[in-house]
Amino acid sequence: MRILLVEDHEALRSMTAAYLAERGFVVDDVGSVEAARAALDIGVYDAMILDLGLPDGDGRSLLTARVRGGAPPPPALILTARDALSDRIEGLNAGADDYLVKPFDLDELQARLRAVLRRPGTRGEVALGLGRLTFDTISREAKVEGRAVNLRRRETLVLETLLAARGRIVVRDVLEERLYGYDQMVTPNALEAAVSRLRKALDEAGAGVRIEVRRGIGYVLRAEDEPS
Ligand code: CA
Repeated sequence: MRILLVEDHEALRSMTAAYLAERGFVVDDVGSVEAARAALDIGVYDAMILDLGLPDGDGRSLLTARVRGGAPPPPALILTARDALSDRIEGLNAGADDYLVKPFDLDELQARLRAVLRRPGTRGEVALGLGRLTFDTISREAKVEGRAVNLRRRETLVLETLLAARGRIVVRDVLEERLYGYDQMVTPNALEAAVSRLRKALDEAGAGVRIEVRRGIGYVLRAEDEPS
């Protein structure tokens, strides 16, 4: 799941981003309305976490922004120090999906975020599957015939991305961006290493799928009995 975090308080932003990244979210974090609009134009997000008081305007303006292709913005969880009832009603009318009043607890933020992501109408499918493998995109758990497959964060992200594309090539850039966010440096073999660990774990679990390499292009996930 990919999240856009919009918060101008730097310490709060980096702490929240690090917390969510450790729990398997891919987080892009920005500190202004303008940067958020730019991020919404180039990235596809499953949800945004939105502070209202931003240096160049009110975060609420992003709730009604059109993103690329004229699509509505992703569902939002609003962070605000303004806990007056009138503010809440105004924000909800403007399209916010939930509110969290500062100061907040990070575990509660995560729980609320997952609730926002679970709602019908959000972009992603909740359950993905192929072969004997199933993947729940909310709990982020992979299972083979009901038994959990233990995967680390990077392998989980690669699996989720390949499963969502089932049978179509996922180019390296997309996978690297999902693993590291769009502004980080990636070592050349980091993706290969993650794919190789994932492949081993899926084989050992008897998942009934295979990961094919398209040299220099990317990867495809197929059911083991499917032709290439
Ligand atoms: Ca603020």
